[in-house]
This record gives sequence, C-alpha cells and structure tokens, in this order.
Amino acid sequence: MENRLMGIAASDGIAIGKAYLLTEPDLTFAKKTIDNPEGEITRLLDSFENAKSEVQAIRDHVAIAVGEEEAQVFDAHVMVLSDPEMLDTIKSNITDNKVNAEQALADVSGLFIAMFEGMVDNPYMQERAADIRDVTERVMGHLLGVKIPSPATIKEEVVIVAKDLTPSDTAQLNRRYVKGFVTDIGGRTSHSAIMARSLEIPAVVGTKTITELAADGVMVIIDGLEGNIIVNPDEATLAEYKEKQTAFETQKEEWAKLKDAETVTKDGKHVELAANIGTPKDLQGVNDNGAEAIGLYRTEFLYMDSEQFPTEQEQFEAYKAVLEGMNGKAVVVRTMDIGGDKELPYLQLPEEMNPFLGYRAIRICLAEPDMFRTQLRALLRASVYGKLRIMFPMIATLNEFREAKQMLEEEKAKLVAEGQSVSDEIEVGIMIEIPAAAVLAHQFAKEVDFFSVGTNDLIQYTMAADRMNERVSYLYQPYNPAILTLLKHVIDSAHAEGKWVGMCGEMAGDQTAVPLLLGLGLDEFSMSASSILKTRSLLAKLDSKEMEALAHKAINECSTVEEVIALVEELTESLS
Ligand code: PEP
Ligand code: MG
Repeated sequence: MENRLMGIAASDGIAIGKAYLLTEPDLTFAKKTIDNPEGEITRLLDSFENAKSEVQAIRDHVAIAVGEEEAQVFDAHVMVLSDPEMLDTIKSNITDNKVNAEQALADVSGLFIAMFEGMVDNPYMQERAADIRDVTERVMGHLLGVKIPSPATIKEEVVIVAKDLTPSDTAQLNRRYVKGFVTDIGGRTSHSAIMARSLEIPAVVGTKTITELAADGVMVIIDGLEGNIIVNPDEATLAEYKEKQTAFETQKEEWAKLKDAETVTKDGKHVELAANIGTPKDLQGVNDNGAEAIGLYRTEFLYMDSEQFPTEQEQFEAYKAVLEGMNGKAVVVRTMDIGGDKELPYLQLPEEMNPFLGYRAIRICLAEPDMFRTQLRALLRASVYGKLRIMFPMIATLNEFREAKQMLEEEKAKLVAEGQSVSDEIEVGIMIEIPAAAVLAHQFAKEVDFFSVGTNDLIQYTMAADRMNERVSYLYQPYNPAILTLLKHVIDSAHAEGKWVGMCGEMAGDQTAVPLLLGLGLDEFSMSASSILKTRSLLAKLDSKEMEALAHKAINECSTVEEVIALVEELTESLS
C-alpha cells in the first residue's frame, strides 16, 4: 500500500528507485556451549573465506569506481582476514572453551581491538582496531546469515535509505547507480545534505521514520524539491512523479543556457556567484555550472580522506590544483574546520558533550600550531598559482583572528627568506558564523579583508537550534527577522570600511533568501554548484533597489518568519 511521509528537502530533483537499506545490521547472537568443535571451526573457516572474497570484490569495485587510493582501505581488511594469528586464536577458543563460533569470534576480536587501541604511542597501529572491527562485523554477518550493506558495491539503480549518512558513506556513493537518498535524521545543512547537493543527487533528510517504513527493495520516490517521500507508490503517483521529474530536467536545461552568462540583476547590478567545494574533484561541477569563483573550499575533507595528517606537499598539490583549475578566478580556501560532525580518526579528541560548541576549527589550529603552520605554508606556496583568499573559520574574538594572521605573516616571512615565491595579493578574511563576531563586525571589519557569512552555524547559534536535529528544525529559521537584522549589521559594517561580504552558508543558494540578501547588499553568494544556475536565473529577474525596499520592510515591519516568507512569496509570484 502507498505510504507518504514528509522530510526536509535537501537536494533538488526527483529520484525513483528500489530502496537499498543502509542500516546497522542486527548482529546479536546467543552464547552457546557446543559439543562439536569441528563443526563450529568449519563454520568459522567458511565465514572467513566468504568474507575474504567479498572484501576482495569490494576492493576491486572501489578501485574502478572510486579510485585506487580509496580501495587500499580494503587491503588492510584482507590482511586481517588472512592473518593466521587471529584465526588460530579463535579456533583455540572454540576448542578450549567449547563455545560457538560467534562467541569465540567476539571474544578474540574484542581482545585484539583492546590491544591495538592501547598502542597510544603508535597511531598507525591504533587505527588497525577499526579494521578489525569492520572485519569482525563482516565475518559475524556470514556466521549469522545477515547481510552487511556495502554501498560501494551497488550495481543497480537504487535509492539509499539510511538513518544518517556519514561524509565517508556519501563519498563512496556511485552516482551512476545511486539515484537519491533519504534519511531519518539530519537537516538541510548537515554535511550529508551538503554532499548530496555537490553530487547533484536528489535527497530528503530528517524524515524521522523512513528506515522503519521502507523495506529493502521496495519502490521509493524521493521528491527533493518539496521534501516528500512516497513508499510503494501506486500507478497514478508514479506517473505524476515521472512527469515532475521530466519537468525538472527541462527546467535544468533552461538554466544550463545561463552557464556562461554574467550574473546581473534586472537593473544591471553585478554580484559574484561562487561555488562551495570539498575536494579538487568538485571542480568539474564548478565549471559545468558556470561559477565565477570558489567562495568556500572546505579543506577539512583533505584531512578526513587521509589516514594521517596530510603533508605540506600533499596539501600544496591540492591547493595548487584548485587554484590552477579556476584559471585566475578567485578561490577562498578555508583553513581546517574539524570538529562538530566532522571527525578526524587520527586526531584523538576526547568525547564532548556539545561538539558544535567545543574544541573545533580555529580553536584546534591555534592550540596545535605545528599542524596549522603546515597548512598555512602549503597555502602560501600555492598562492602564486591563482587568486588566493584565505579564510579562518569559527572566529569568536579579534584576538583569535590576530593570532592566526600573525602566524600566517610569520610563515610568509620564513618562506620568502627561504627564497620561495609567495603572492603579495592574498586577501585574508574570516567566517562570520559565531554571533559574537557578527555583533562586533564593525570592529572586525577594520582588520580583515573580507567576511564570508557561515549561516549554517550562525543560524544554529543565534536560534540555539542544532543544525543536525530534525526535532528543532522548525526553529532553524534563515529568514527570521533576528537573523536578517544581524546580517544587515555585518554587511553594513563591512561596507563602511570598504570591505566586501560573501555568504557561504546554505542560505546563499536558498531561493527565498536570495531576494532578501540582494536587498541587504551581499556582494558574493557562494553555494553548492548545483544551485548556481537557478540563482543566476532568479537574480536576473530582481531589481536591486526594489529588493532593498523588501529587505528593509522584512526587518522593520515583520516580526515573524511567516510574515517574511509571505512578503517574499508575494514578490516572487509577481515575477512569474
Ligand atoms: C557554515 O557554517 O555556514 C559553513 C559554511 O561552514 P560549515 O557548513 O562547513 O560548518
Ligand atoms: Mg560552519
């Protein structure tokens, strides 16, 4: 029977396909005393063999579909599965203690994991604990006859159904087969949603219950435009959505005509339309969508994709590739923003009660100067290959900015003394994503070259509404007059000092927000590449003076977000 539910529209488009359930497998088992150890050992050996051929197949597939580097993770798994020491210990455990294979496996792998995790002086060996955990899960799956999902091996068109997707799950998805995804948790600005937009696959997040409603293999429609999910659609619904899908594709073709057009408003005002990226691989989407610059390069993904801190040279290569790939167009590179929902396995940080308010981003960088200076040096060396702008994230105080800038100056001086060439035209700015910095923008504006407003965090901190929590998503209100008032102060303060202001939070590509942001005087809009063309099309229909009046009215006459939305809708209806 057809079932409908609502979530948060996270990435445009309509996807129709069979559900691929990417959920935690149930690997519970009972401990049993056995009287046939040989039989248990045979089960164990078979499960190891099956797991090994499965991992080998995944490895080969990932090497072709994603890349050799990504595939190497699975070599470590094959190594664990081929290690006689672990297997022999499990066998002895079965024989000596007369327990079933599941119990023996769990006991022995628990010991190995504890042993590797205890090697605090050897981060490489510590990481092997994660490999043993993965391998144990896979072998256990075979012993219990439970399927372990492996998104990297999907070979037919599916839509992914999951509780949540980690950035590394999302990075493994193959666009050819994965047509969309839907999750129980998350909001529009959680990183899985941001990744979906950069992959240009339709997504709906925060449905709360999709993993309970959709069984593996049932037909699911994901409406990433409106946030609707239909499980088991009937014929009429299927036909309706196929039509909607075609209409959206036609719309996209229309927008594509604007790829090389200049971004100007109806009255001829130019604003810069830029793209957000996570890796140099995203450059293709940036150029295909006609971005005029990169307004945010989230460098933490470089750190997250690696097994240890990327070296200065590795970072230099990545930054150079992006600068060269943009052919002289500006690139805002944000220094590492680890923390919040972005973890770094090799940087072992204690668990925190409130990671989004904790030890993250510039706070880590200033406390770990060696790591930070390595990144700054790599950036400075790359600066001669294009138009570089460096941006510090999560700045709360002027002292943090001054300290970071001082380190940058020192590294520059050292490089110059070493005879390296460094550009003299690097702009240095900050993200405005902490309310304290927004309130004090008039002081920051005297010292920085630019601001880029990180509304994903600024809204969550101003409204005290976790950006990842679907239960409070109703409070996550970009158009709340409080947010608009704060933005006006930031933009006016920068302009008073002759500085420019961009926005790289998701609000910059939000079609309801764009008229207001134009009216507030935002200079640069940076967004997922997939939102650029529709925003260019919208801006061409807007008159900047009229939008100024609109923003003024929203701030001075509206007291609720509903009133602001009604005001913008009245305007947009008159456009079409
Ligand atoms: C933001 O906070 O708006 C932002 C762009 O940074 P991130 O989403 O990476 O936290
Ligand atoms: Mg942020």
